[in-house]
Amino acid sequence: MHELSITQSILDISLKAAAEQHATRIRAIRLRLGAFSGVVPECVQMYLDVLAKGTAAEGAKIEAVTVPLRVECRACGTVSEIDRRHIACPACGSVDLHRLSGREFLVDSLEVDV
Ligand SMILES: [Zn+2]
Repeated sequence: MHELSITQSILDISLKAAAEQHATRIRAIRLRLGAFSGVVPECVQMYLDVLAKGTAAEGAKIEAVTVPLRVECRACGTVSEIDRRHIACPACGSVDLHRLSGREFLVDSLEVDV
């Protein structure tokens, strides 16, 4: 994944949301990152520091929460949440899993000054 373009989208989404609330300044941007999104919060922060210069998000802090991977087992049909250290169906141990989520990233909430 390309953190630069991801950071640009995060910034666009955040600025739009802040403008809708007539916020003058974004203090923090909370993200939900899928366990397999490949997005490194430190990289997003680094790019944000550069991209947000001169905008309401200048100096905003990235706060990231990692969400677990949801999978459906192709062998027994169990839907479960797993982490990347233990990739197997908790019910039957099969590794033939269909991924339902885990690659997403989304802006969860903003901390703003109005
Ligand atoms: Zn299973």
